[in-house]
Amino acid sequence: MAEKGTIIVTGGSRGIGAAIAIALAELGHTVACLSRRGELPAVQGASAEALARCHGFTCDVTSGDSLRDAFAEAAKLGGPIVGLVNNAGVHLEGPSTSFSREDYETVFATNTTSVFMSCQHIYPHLVASGGGLIINIGSFFDKLGVKRNLAYCASKAAVGAITRCLAVEWAGKGIRVIDVAPGYITTDLNKEAMSAGPLREYLEKRIPGRIPGTSEDVAKLVKALFLTDALFLSGETIYIDGAQGVAH
Ligand code: NDP
Repeated sequence: MAEKGTIIVTGGSRGIGAAIAIALAELGHTVACLSRRGELPAVQGASAEALARCHGFTCDVTSGDSLRDAFAEAAKLGGPIVGLVNNAGVHLEGPSTSFSREDYETVFATNTTSVFMSCQHIYPHLVASGGGLIINIGSFFDKLGVKRNLAYCASKAAVGAITRCLAVEWAGKGIRVIDVAPGYITTDLNKEAMSAGPLREYLEKRIPGRIPGTSEDVAKLVKALFLTDALFLSGETIYIDGAQGVAH
């Protein structure tokens, strides 16, 4: 298990990131939750103890200055910095023929460039702590061709590549880097579409496992990765998609 310390979770206020923040706080870590609104994780049923270990910081991950300032503030929470979860992300879609360059760049700035910059910011802290764990939240779309999703698919494939390169480059410093790639996960934003109608019918046909996936499913996996002492595990993409990605 990682030494108790501070873990930074981008997009830690809602959805998957909020569930991850609470799960890591339950392990006894201090959790810095970065989001544009700087809110604490919104998770129903979260214990007061876990919430007390979470701290909200205002940060736009698309801005290098904003990330640098938020990481500096998080470092003041005390204790060693032992991990980072790059979770903040945006999903914009549209036909490739008319998808705007502006939207393309928003997707890459939020989903991909922010991962590179956050990893650069966390590096000196993890080296000072003697190593640590970086989890990048990708997507099972990283290996698929999905209509109307060129930018999103490409941005998440690049997250896998960043994960592999840093895992190799920083292994000598005791830093492990893992890409956790979810399939369809219910969050507040999509729960109506996931529970009935055409999307639900599609998911029932395509996902062999229990559906829908939940933010807590992803949080449990991230928690397990912070708990395990299988230090040989690094550089991989771990899919959590109810077996959809391997179904034929
Ligand atoms: P949500 O939209 O529910 O939450 C996004 C979180 O990121 C919020 O906390 C939001 O807070 C924050 N955020 C968004 N943009 C920025 C920004 N520019 N700077 C800082 N924080 C930001 O997303 P999900 O929980 O659904 O997704 C989380 C991650 O999981 C994403 O990377 C997504 O691509 C990935 N994923 C999701 C799947 C799903 O089915 N839900 C499937 C596969 C992958 P605020 O608005 O205050 O900034």
